[in-house]
Amino acid sequence: MSQLTPVQGWSELLLALPEFLLTDAYIDEHDELVAVVELPRALQPCSRCGVLDLHRLHDYRRHTVRHLPVAGRACRLRWRKRLLACVEGCGTFVERTPSILPGAVWSRAAAPAAVAMSADNIPIDRIRRSFGVGWNTVMRAVTAAAELVAAVRPTRVGIDETLMTTGRLTTRRREFLTALVCLDTSLVVAVSQGRDRASAALLLADHAPDARVVACDLFSGFRTAAQQLDGVVVVADVFHVVRLALQALDEVRRRRQQQIHGHRGHKDDPLFKLRRVLRVGQERLKVSKLEQIFERLAAADTDDEVGAAWVAVDLLRRVYRAPDRDTAHRRLVTFYEWVATIEVPEVTRLARTIDTWQDQVLAFFDTRASNGPTESANARIKDVRRDRGFRNYDNYRARILLHAGQPRRVPTTTRIRSYTLTTAA
Ligand SMILES: [Zn+2]
Repeated sequence: MSQLTPVQGWSELLLALPEFLLTDAYIDEHDELVAVVELPRALQPCSRCGVLDLHRLHDYRRHTVRHLPVAGRACRLRWRKRLLACVEGCGTFVERTPSILPGAVWSRAAAPAAVAMSADNIPIDRIRRSFGVGWNTVMRAVTAAAELVAAVRPTRVGIDETLMTTGRLTTRRREFLTALVCLDTSLVVAVSQGRDRASAALLLADHAPDARVVACDLFSGFRTAAQQLDGVVVVADVFHVVRLALQALDEVRRRRQQQIHGHRGHKDDPLFKLRRVLRVGQERLKVSKLEQIFERLAAADTDDEVGAAWVAVDLLRRVYRAPDRDTAHRRLVTFYEWVATIEVPEVTRLARTIDTWQDQVLAFFDTRASNGPTESANARIKDVRRDRGFRNYDNYRARILLHAGQPRRVPTTTRIRSYTLTTAA
C-alpha cells in the first residue's frame, strides 16, 4: 500500500467529508473503495478536562465505517484516529468528529442516504447490501426517520381502511390497516392495525388532536371515534356514498335478473348488457341516449324496479352537485320521497343508511372535504407492500410513513448552462 501525501480538499470533493484529509485510497479484493482518512493535526479539547491544546500524540487507533458510495462503488472509510495524551495529565483520549460517531458502523452521511432509498421504496435488504451494513442498522435509521414524519399535526384528516396481506407465503393472512391521511397534503400521517372504533380513536387522539374535519367512509366506528374529538366536523366521504348507491343498484339488477330469467346474468341478457352504462352518471349522457336506456330498461324489467333504482341513484348524485347546503338538503328530501314511492327493498335500505348519515353527508357542503386524498395515499401504502406482504408490523409501518408520509421527491436537474444560439458574425 502506497502512502499518499495528505491532500487538502480531496476528502471534501470525493467523500463529502470536509474536515478530513484523504491520505490513501485503493480498491480492495471485494471491489470496494477503501478511503484512508485522518483529521489534520490541530487543537483538540480534552474529553475530560476540556482544555484545548495540541495534546501529545500517544498512539493511533483504527476506526472503519461504511460511507456513501463513491461513483457507484461501495466505500469504506478507514479513519486513523489519534489517541492523544492530555497536556494536563488526565490521561489519554481519542479524537472526535461529528461526521463519524464513536462506535458507529457507518458515517453520519450514510444513514440519511439509506433512509432516502427506503422512502423511494427500495427494499431494506437491498439498501443494506449496497451500504454493507446490517439489516437492523438500516431499519433503525428508517424507524427514527419515520418517527419524525409521524410528528406532523394535521387539521383536516381522512380515515380509511386498507386490506393488507401479512406473513410468509405459508402463513399468509389478510388483515386490515387503518390509515390517517392529511387531506391538505395527501400524506399518510399514521397507520394502525385493525379496523375498529378503538384503534381509530387512538389514531385520532395521538396524531390528529387538532383535527377540525374528519372525512370517513360509512363505518359507524370511525364516526363515533371522530366525534370524541372536541369541535370536529365529521364528513361522510362522497365516493363511498356513491359507491354504496351503485352497490344497491347492482343488487336490484341481479335480483331482477334471477326473478325474470332464473339464472345469473349472461352476455345476451338485456339487463346484463346494461350493467355498465347504469354506473355512468345520467348527467353525462345525452338525452337521446338516456331515453334509449329507459326504453331498454322498461322492456327488460316489466316491473321497472331497475329503472326506478337508477333514478334513485341519480337523485342522490344530484345532491352532491348542489351549490350549497340548503339546496343539497332539499334534493336529499326529493331522494327520500322517490325512494318511498318506488318501494324497492335494496334502495330503501340505502336510504335508511343515508338517513342515519345525513348530518355527515350534508357536512360536505360546509367543508368540501372528501377522501380522494386518502384513496391516493392508500394506493401508495399498497406500493410498499408490493406482492410480498409484511412480517413485522412496526417495520412495515415505518416504511409506509417514509414512503407515503412525506412529499414525493421528484428529482430535478438544473441546467448548468442555458442554451443559446450562436450565429456567425
Ligand atoms: Zn485533560
